[in-house]
Amino acid sequence: MKKFFVVATVCLTAVFCCGCGEKQTHKMQSVDTAMGTVIQQNIYTTDSGSKDTEEILALLSGLEEQELSRRLDTSEVWKVNDSAGWEEGSMLSSELAEILERCLNVWQQSEGAFDVTLGPVVSLWDIDGWAAGEREGSFSLPEDRLLRDALGRCGSGKIQLKDRRFFLPEGMMLDLGAVGKGIGLDRILDYLEGNEEITGAIISVGGSVLTFGEKPDESTWKVGITNPADTSANIGVLSLEGQWCISTSGDYERYVELDGVRYHHIIDPATGYPADSGVSGVTVLAKDGFLSDALSTACFILGPEKGMPLAERYGAEVLFVSRDGRVQMSEGMKKYFHKS
Ligand code: AMP
Ligand code: MG
Repeated sequence: MKKFFVVATVCLTAVFCCGCGEKQTHKMQSVDTAMGTVIQQNIYTTDSGSKDTEEILALLSGLEEQELSRRLDTSEVWKVNDSAGWEEGSMLSSELAEILERCLNVWQQSEGAFDVTLGPVVSLWDIDGWAAGEREGSFSLPEDRLLRDALGRCGSGKIQLKDRRFFLPEGMMLDLGAVGKGIGLDRILDYLEGNEEITGAIISVGGSVLTFGEKPDESTWKVGITNPADTSANIGVLSLEGQWCISTSGDYERYVELDGVRYHHIIDPATGYPADSGVSGVTVLAKDGFLSDALSTACFILGPEKGMPLAERYGAEVLFVSRDGRVQMSEGMKKYFHKS
């Protein structure tokens, strides 16, 4: 069982001299927690008094507390879930309506593998509790009867979204855990693009990473891909220029073990059990965070045979690490991947 750890904020500033007449670039670094995960920021800026790392952290906390959380009663998703069964439905913000439209699109394209209505099943497995270490030593499998009942209350085919009016049937529950971090990257990207002083950044929100602009020495951004069999090591590195979003879904990120079997947090909607496609880790490279995050979850459930064409349909690149350590990747990914 993995435990969350709290990391104090450390802001370091290093100054890079960029030649005569040019403004100096400062490197702002911080490690914090937000959205229930670790946020690592490296920002290059010409503003020596920059508060960017704090502002980005506040932006992520706001996203969780006011929009996406399934557990906090301050969020829009909580309120929408609370409205389940209302005949008149509920009116969504334009942001959440757009997010749900995109989720429904990936649900269709993935033949139901990606499904943000799995809330009742995710809740029954107590996946959020694993992250907090609440179930250590006391985990037991959900009863079959309860799992069947929860699965019966899932399915994106049962929800309706007309413009911004949303109908969620009684007993159903949205869970946007599969895209929250990616949406976080998209909001961070908007922030970075709106700040001229920022010349480059690499920011990770849990298993999702955003690269932006360039480093003062013009070298490429390096994003390590974790070895699922030994999470202290990488199987390789992506070497990237400019702006990208990279998301990884892995069976080592959140799990519990019982009688030698690992139960992880990515659920196959066809069974209600952790997905069993032979894959241990999937990394997706895309231009936007929503897509990289949604597709990494979908591809994990589908495996390489169906996941590879799915990523291709969205213009994304994908890399699979199977349980036996085999690595398979899309043609486009080969340009960026360097084996460790
Ligand atoms: P990720 O780590 O991005 O792959 O997202 C995993 C999280 O998404 C889980 O902790 C659940 O909250 C949620 N989830 C699990 N299975 C699915 C699925 N099949 N479709 C959509 N969301 C899921
Ligand atoms: Mg995801």
